[in-house]
Amino acid sequence: MSRSRSKSEELYRRACALMPGGVSSPVRAFRSVGSTPIYFKQASGSHFRDEDDNDYVDYCMSWGPLILGHAHPLVVEAVRQAAVDGLSYGACCKREIEAAELILEAFPSMQRVRFVSSGTEAVMTAIRLARGATGRAKILKFDGGYHGHSDSLLVKAGSGLVTFGTSSSLGVPTGLASETVVCGFDDEAALEQAFTEFGPQLAAAIVEPLPGNNGLLEQRREWLLKLRALCDQHGALLILDEVISGFRTRFGGYGDSVGVRADLVTLGKIIGGGMPVGALAGPAKLMELLAPVGGVYQAGTLSGNPVSLSAGISTLRELKSGATYSQLDELGRSFDAAAAQAANDLPWFKWRRVGSVIWLHLDATEVPRRADVISKTAVLRFNAMHGPLLEQGIYLPPSAYEVLFLSAAHSRSEVETLARALVEQARKHSAS
Ligand SMILES: *Cc1c(COP(=O)(O)O)cnc(C)c1O
Repeated sequence: MSRSRSKSEELYRRACALMPGGVSSPVRAFRSVGSTPIYFKQASGSHFRDEDDNDYVDYCMSWGPLILGHAHPLVVEAVRQAAVDGLSYGACCKREIEAAELILEAFPSMQRVRFVSSGTEAVMTAIRLARGATGRAKILKFDGGYHGHSDSLLVKAGSGLVTFGTSSSLGVPTGLASETVVCGFDDEAALEQAFTEFGPQLAAAIVEPLPGNNGLLEQRREWLLKLRALCDQHGALLILDEVISGFRTRFGGYGDSVGVRADLVTLGKIIGGGMPVGALAGPAKLMELLAPVGGVYQAGTLSGNPVSLSAGISTLRELKSGATYSQLDELGRSFDAAAAQAANDLPWFKWRRVGSVIWLHLDATEVPRRADVISKTAVLRFNAMHGPLLEQGIYLPPSAYEVLFLSAAHSRSEVETLARALVEQARKHSAS
């Protein structure tokens, strides 16, 4: 069986002459799996169709927002109605209130929400707010955490327990990069050292409570609690970046589910139901430092867009009963059972699953909780499998560092097929 991708290839050639690398976001270029992008024209439920009329079961799901699946009828209908009533007002609308009420109901320790248009923007605003509230400049982030592409957060770990100032992109002034301190996950000693050295200068620490952008580096609760305690001790705010994890495992935050209190929460992905929406939430006394009440400036032409919020509201209303989460847990368990059975003689076929998020780590070592111990072998094995799985109609995110997302639209038989296909391909590439 060989699928033609001639239309995708032709579109990619055209795109490369028009856009840098032919893409609107780098990972879509398929470079890490040594291939070229597929162009999609239609998606529904768990299925994806490309320009050459090949069908795929999608396990990337737009990188997380589509917890109900592609083009869920309720969401599409809400968007259709909203669009008819006007695409953008640049003025206040009732949907902002409805969306804010849903979010605050799900985050009981928060009292105010500000809507923006992306996760990056939510994080950027949260950082400015933390700096404005504390009068401090530095922020602490963790190696392997992703928080969007704003200048302060494109900073990588250097060689040491705690480092600062190495930007991971050209164009980030060293003066700004040096305000970001980086240390590794899963290491209490590194945390202690970061706060001992920089505690009084830290405006905030920012962490994904369930890191899911560089593998699924699920942290120990004790480590998260230690971070919380050190922030309190040194007067730094704790920003939980829940852009992926918010509403992913429950109707609310992952932080609340493990008992880690946030000072500010950033959201995106699921709260937009597939449309561009981001938000930050926090207590009134912090959030009301934002303009127009306070002196921390932030604004957006399309913020609180009625069409985008209608997708978010309908998604959150659907999630509220909790039934989706039980369904997703059950799907996840079906994946585990099928994978365990198929891979019973392959001790290096490993994965970590938290609810509907799955990360493959194809090596005999323990599935890591830190970015610096992700196995090179595991990455090579994943890359070798990616193309052959596409041939079978299984679309995985095009990078070994990315996680797979299950949605309410996936069926039990689809995830069992996925598990068996993964193991079969892994077996073929065990020599690599
Ligand atoms: C996706 C993501 C972001 C960035 O959101 P965009 O909408 O892509 O700007 C920030 N933080 C986390 C944890 C994310 O997963």
